[in-house]
Amino acid sequence: MTNDGMSGRILSDDIVPAGKPWSGVVEAGRLLRIVDLEGRQGVDFLCYNARDTLERYSAPNTIKKSRTLRLTEGHVFYSDIGNPMFTIVGDTCQGYHDTIGGCCGAATNAMLYDVPDCPGCRENLLAAIGEHGMGRRDMVPNLNFFCHVPVYEDGRLAERTFVDGPSRAGDHIELRAEMDAIVAISNCPQVNNPASGGKPTPIRVVIREAA
Ligand SMILES: [Zn+2]
Repeated sequence: MTNDGMSGRILSDDIVPAGKPWSGVVEAGRLLRIVDLEGRQGVDFLCYNARDTLERYSAPNTIKKSRTLRLTEGHVFYSDIGNPMFTIVGDTCQGYHDTIGGCCGAATNAMLYDVPDCPGCRENLLAAIGEHGMGRRDMVPNLNFFCHVPVYEDGRLAERTFVDGPSRAGDHIELRAEMDAIVAISNCPQVNNPASGGKPTPIRVVIREAA
């Protein structure tokens, strides 16, 4: 695969097929880039302190400290005990990353869309954190990159929570680890709402040293 303008030594470079999970460890100071190869692809994301997985991503802490629901370059993901976990250092998708919608999964596909036996990101994230000795008790509300969950003025959400994703082929988000972190990703298989544009596609996940 090409460097795509990425400086610094590449440590891992993976294509995650449509609908599949990924996990990895990103050491403090290293960069994690997630590329939406074909566009309009939702990517569910969770992170944990690799030294003590009791510490994990906190959506409320991150939202309150950033004072926005729409995270972009310069914003920091905070843990449940208030420590910086990742800083967004690159974002070609102008902050269209959902902080409140959470993941899809078999239970919510049945609850929301009356679609039975349809697993999704929850099952993927459980598989991803399972590779690091974690399970259901460790699941917390996640971030969704390249996803648009508009909140209307009266507080209402869209009929299917998600509306069409705004990302184009090649859009990426780049994160700098502020601690040694375990990352769990689900390349969202959802077809019952527009989180993945109705047609899930592959993504690229690159870990590299900062230049
Ligand atoms: Zn999903």
